[in-house]
Amino acid sequence: MTKYDYDLFVIGAGSGGVRAARIAANYGARVAVAEEYRVGGTCVIRGCVPKKLFVYASHFADEFEDAAGFGWTVEGARFDWKTLIGNKDKEIDRLNGIYIRNLQNAGVEIIESRATVVDAHKVRLEATGREVTAERILIAVGAMPFLPEIPGIEHAITSNEAFHLEELPGRVVVVGGGYIAVEFAGIFNGLGARTMQLYRGPLFMRGFDDDLRTLLAEEMSKKGVDLRMDADIKAIGKKDGELHLTLTNGDVIKTDAVMYATGRVPNTKGLGLEAAGVKLGKNGEVIVDEYSQTSVPSIYAVGDVTGRANLTPVAIREGHAFADTVYGGRKVKVDHSIIPTAVFSQPELGTVGLTEALARARHPEIDLYKTSFRAMKNTLSGSQERTFMKLVVDAQSDRVLGVHLMGPGSGELIQAVGIAVTMGATKAQFDATIAVHPTAAEELVTLRDKWRPPAA
Ligand SMILES: Cc1cc2nc3c(=O)[nH]c(=O)nc-3n(C[C@H](O)[C@H](O)[C@H](O)COP(=O)(O)OP(=O)(O)OC[C@H]3O[C@@H](n4cnc5c(N)ncnc54)[C@H](O)[C@@H]3O)c2cc1C
Repeated sequence: MTKYDYDLFVIGAGSGGVRAARIAANYGARVAVAEEYRVGGTCVIRGCVPKKLFVYASHFADEFEDAAGFGWTVEGARFDWKTLIGNKDKEIDRLNGIYIRNLQNAGVEIIESRATVVDAHKVRLEATGREVTAERILIAVGAMPFLPEIPGIEHAITSNEAFHLEELPGRVVVVGGGYIAVEFAGIFNGLGARTMQLYRGPLFMRGFDDDLRTLLAEEMSKKGVDLRMDADIKAIGKKDGELHLTLTNGDVIKTDAVMYATGRVPNTKGLGLEAAGVKLGKNGEVIVDEYSQTSVPSIYAVGDVTGRANLTPVAIREGHAFADTVYGGRKVKVDHSIIPTAVFSQPELGTVGLTEALARARHPEIDLYKTSFRAMKNTLSGSQERTFMKLVVDAQSDRVLGVHLMGPGSGELIQAVGIAVTMGATKAQFDATIAVHPTAAEELVTLRDKWRPPAA
């Protein structure tokens, strides 16, 4: 018996914490996990899962319209927000139950409380004030939405509240330019709200390939989202039940709801980490080494709180690698260099590897292959939505450095393409793969001509 209450104390039962706790317990460790809200964390309770359910809901408007070209008449189609929220809540409760059972089956003790760090081996349970000791502590507290300090910000919502609105707002303004902002703009727009999106820079989706950024803006505008770049709010007022947003250029926009999706900050405030000697970065993220160990050897951190790549599969991988390394007797590092990812915007994006800009910066010569077309379904539906595909190839080695997709199914597609890119596939190997016909994806293996900039 060790001198500690637990071998491992995990703070936060989200994607990273749950995986680490379960695997460590499977290896025989005595594990407890503290959760201050709901087991499952952001992804399951108020992130990826409910978001994707909303995205499905919002697609039906387009589907009903598209159906007409195929001979269907859909009469009396109506959308009911409360039904969607109720059914979504049931599904989240079901998943929450599964997460709880999985932890219990692995022998992990679940403690419903906020927990803070007292020192290298001690945690305080805020619900009761009890202090417990552990040989190791894992910080897996995730991140929370960032809200700027402007007058009237208390009238704004974030994605957290968007999942529980009483009514679908008639008009909504989404502020932000990252993937959560574009996804919610698409959701609100698809469900019938008059939707505006504001972004303070010249073009949203910074960090994504520039072609995807430009084309997504075009397609979202075509679908009816009122996109305003170089625009920001300096104050929010409320009059007669309406919100009045005063922009930095002086314009005033009237709306029913304003949702901020302007980034997320690590949940380290008041956690006691600095007093315990754990080094934090400038945004409050926990600084870790390649094995997720912090500057205090008995304290580790995984997931969004480390600010490495804020995605569920990354948090899960980091949690699993931590458990393998510390309790499984094999050192495992997570490779963050190639991360396939999807954006459930409308149209959807899928991307893996280097953007054109990064590839140019890192490789002496690159080749580009691009195609843009109306998908077959749109010939009869009449939809003007375009599909886009781009390969970024290292001219010297022929290796495919990046793949960037926009169009239906891009999220599903990029998972499979991600395998090839992670394995180091060359353009010649893409070309040698027999096409699947008729699909949009076949374009990926039939792109013969290098893209050249149009003559001036
Ligand atoms: C709207 C939205 C959509 C998203 N969509 C996607 C997507 O499509 N794909 C994708 O890969 N990722 C998506 N993400 C990101 C994804 O949710 C996160 O990357 C992931 O949840 C990170 O896991 P984590 O374990 O680091 O933290 P979390 O899952 O955030 O878990 C942290 C947990 O710790 C708890 N906690 C915090 N502080 C304490 C404390 N002091 N004591 C006790 N408990 C505490 C929190 O309540 C939370 O349950 C989305 C996020 C949002 C907000």
